[in-house]
Amino acid sequence: MKVIQILKHQNICLQITAGNEKVMQIPYFHSMEILHVSAECYPVAKVGGLGDVVGALPKYQQKLGHIAKVVMPMHRTHFLYENSFEVVHKGTIRIAGKAIDYTIIKEKTNRLGFDLYMVDIWGLLDRERVYGYDDDIYRYVSFQVAVVDWLSHWQHRPSVVHVHDHHSALIPFIMQHCFQYNFLSEIKTVLTIHNAQYQGWMRWDQAVFLPPWDTYKWGLLDWNHSINSLGAGIKCANKVNTVSHGYLEEIRYHANGLENLFEYERGKCFGILNGIDTEIWDPETDNYLEYHFNPSNYIENKLKNKKILCDRFNLDIEKPLIIFIGRMVGEKAADLLPQAISDCIRYMEGRMNFLVLGSGSSFVESQLEEMKSRYFGFYNSLIGYNEELSHIMYAGADFLLMPSRVEPCGLNQMYALRYGTIPIVRRTGGLRDTVTDYGEPNGFGVCFNDTSVGDISHAVYRALLLYEDKVKMKNIIPQIMQIDHSWESSSQIYINLYNA
Ligand code: ADP
Repeated sequence: MKVIQILKHQNICLQITAGNEKVMQIPYFHSMEILHVSAECYPVAKVGGLGDVVGALPKYQQKLGHIAKVVMPMHRTHFLYENSFEVVHKGTIRIAGKAIDYTIIKEKTNRLGFDLYMVDIWGLLDRERVYGYDDDIYRYVSFQVAVVDWLSHWQHRPSVVHVHDHHSALIPFIMQHCFQYNFLSEIKTVLTIHNAQYQGWMRWDQAVFLPPWDTYKWGLLDWNHSINSLGAGIKCANKVNTVSHGYLEEIRYHANGLENLFEYERGKCFGILNGIDTEIWDPETDNYLEYHFNPSNYIENKLKNKKILCDRFNLDIEKPLIIFIGRMVGEKAADLLPQAISDCIRYMEGRMNFLVLGSGSSFVESQLEEMKSRYFGFYNSLIGYNEELSHIMYAGADFLLMPSRVEPCGLNQMYALRYGTIPIVRRTGGLRDTVTDYGEPNGFGVCFNDTSVGDISHAVYRALLLYEDKVKMKNIIPQIMQIDHSWESSSQIYINLYNA
């Protein structure tokens, strides 16, 4: 009897043979060590979907038997003060000729289900907000250089460095073409693009922020006469993925200037749909909810959550409640909300209620604030970020509106589905991949094609008709609550991508 290890189409397995006869073939489990590098990670710091993904994916990779770690900047959030940390490394990097000390701290109790490391650079990373400072470029280049410097001191090498969005997309270049660190170039790198609109542009004179690098390789940094961090990541990472198949197709035509690069690099680009963390986003156990429910008993308690919202925001529990949750930016078509909501309330004679939660453009925010008194009893909004309220809204609403111009994946619609709230979405990116119109076979949502006030109003009208059809609603709600968007399958697809 002998055991031979064979490599067949990258699926490593053990083959046991007796003489020439194959007795059995056993899949050989190869545990990987994955280092995720990200600006956000829920619940430490979250601005949008990136935080949710980086807070969940490593946990599910651990469950598959791999070692997943996250390293992020040491933002000054509640998490930092409410948990214990230990110093694991201290080092010094040089940015534009200036020596900068950094410290790596590690959360002690494995609170997130994986090792969490944070990079502290005094005065630079230890700030309350994740983004939005004038020196963000300097801050995030320093973060990336510190991460690679720390990595260069490890006694072993991780199997893969997985970077997320432009804030960490220079890392593959630094590991391959900065003289001090290029011995790390054998480590595989994967770049996940959560949003290709933001690319981390730098002027060429800011190239001095990088550690000394091979200037023959300037073309890997350059895109349209400036340094493009995301572009450099796409060129240098071994594999690149977007967070849905639909978005991967779209960015070949709309990628804020990077269309040709995506077309050129398409051989190494993949679409992997995000999952949701079903341990946190579960209407049966959600810590933020007073009234829990599941697909077989949702009626009473979903209504109780709606009542909480209606009482707090002066809305009518008898009418369908349509919510919007998100950043007030052009991508989310938040600029169309004031007009679309006004039109719906006026022309459909106030047959529905709207509740909006979000922040962003001050112009949109002020319009939404001003509408509160005009449409008192029909519409309300809360400007700001409120995690707890968002959970109650997903649980208590009847419909979630997402008229997005761009939606790389979209997590809101997946949370809404799990909480029995029907999504009203524009057919784009991940929304197209995850929502089927109720007019189509096995459909359950309301879909429309154009980002216009007219299309949004018409979709709301169709939602109203659906709401009035009690039989259809009773079929659809338990159906959508059971759709599986968990991380179980997507986290394995990432492992396959690392191995490919
Ligand atoms: P994006 O990352 O483009 O903002 P996603 O749909 O991928 O959009 O993820 C948005 C995440 O951020 C969801 O978890 C959503 O509930 C949350 N979110 C967005 N705005 C707010 C807000 N104002 N308050 C609470 N949660 C918010």
